Amino acid sequence: MSDRAPTPVLPLASPSSAAFAAPAGGVWRDVAASDWQDWRWQLRNRLRTADELAQHFVIPPELRAFLEAGHGFEVAITPFFASLCRPFDPTCPLARQVLPDVAEATVRSFERADPLGEDPYRKAPGIVHKYPDRVLFLVTDTCAAYCRYCTRARWVASGADSLGSAEQEAALAYIEQTPTIRDVLISGGDPLLLSSPKLNALLDRLAQIPHLRFLRIGTRVPVFLPMRIDAELVHALRPRRIPVYLNVHCNHFAELAEPVRDALARLADGGVSLGGQTVLLRGVNDTAPVLQETFYALLSARVRPYYLFHCDPIRGSAHLRTSVDEGLDLMRQLIGHTSGMAVPKYVIDLEGGGKIPLWPDFVEQMDRNVLHVTNFRGERWQYVNHAD
Ligand code: SF4
Repeated sequence: MSDRAPTPVLPLASPSSAAFAAPAGGVWRDVAASDWQDWRWQLRNRLRTADELAQHFVIPPELRAFLEAGHGFEVAITPFFASLCRPFDPTCPLARQVLPDVAEATVRSFERADPLGEDPYRKAPGIVHKYPDRVLFLVTDTCAAYCRYCTRARWVASGADSLGSAEQEAALAYIEQTPTIRDVLISGGDPLLLSSPKLNALLDRLAQIPHLRFLRIGTRVPVFLPMRIDAELVHALRPRRIPVYLNVHCNHFAELAEPVRDALARLADGGVSLGGQTVLLRGVNDTAPVLQETFYALLSARVRPYYLFHCDPIRGSAHLRTSVDEGLDLMRQLIGHTSGMAVPKYVIDLEGGGKIPLWPDFVEQMDRNVLHVTNFRGERWQYVNHAD
């Protein structure tokens, strides 16, 4: 473990407002601003094949062969997100999250298609009921772009698409008939790719279930496709009898370009409560300065960092995964050096066993009335326990 403070924070990437028009150079130079700002145009024009990726990124021959063999997880990158990547830099922390790597072909013995062991807990179409008081509700298999470390790669982009009306009714019936459920986490895929009327109707139905206390939605759309955050969608996400919390997946401060920050502001101004979810990824955010700046940038964008997930052992993801020791060391470098509000919970997720929060151990020894502790500067202190 290290008691080093993070080195001074890195400057936030500062894309200009021109970032909301197509980049002046490169493959999208002739795209009209009205198309670039149209989320449906962005989805239609995602980079998916080796040839399409090669229009923007450098694709080495071995990666082209890997892509053309077609064995890997689905590939799609919105032009907007691609435009934030450094196309000629294989170490770009944004490209590394969405651009396939031949290392994906190497599957370790402990890696799993279902690393969280969710499938045995499927109770109804789209419903995973693992914890006593809450369910996961997978409403679509579609995302704006596909993350190479996706925990639900076995389900995402599987062609299942969104739940049909009969399946959705069966899922809602399960929630209605299970009064121990307090909280529904709507995920996928990305729920914000449902049409706004469909999402609105789903949230209306859920809000009418009397034993539910709040709803949560997990999304990466504000980062991959900020133009999707329009007035109709913000209205659909409004609080009802119960609040709706939106947890935005963001891994690096450079993802928070101006159009993304504007989209988050539209959500916050519309009364949507925002939390942040970050996955710890090798070569993306596995240094204390990058994590610190990412969490500060999220808070500045009105998103409260909530979870730092240890990267799950999904098949072919070893090149993106750190060790838990490294994760704890990073947390030790953040705690005390970073506003408490900007330090999320670091969690591992057991296969079938649920989440375990991990926290560096600051207690060296506990005598009857005295705690021997190490503070954030690495100094040893004693704390007298005045309980009696
Ligand atoms: S946005 Fe979420 S569900 Fe979609 S590919 Fe990325 S991690 Fe998986």
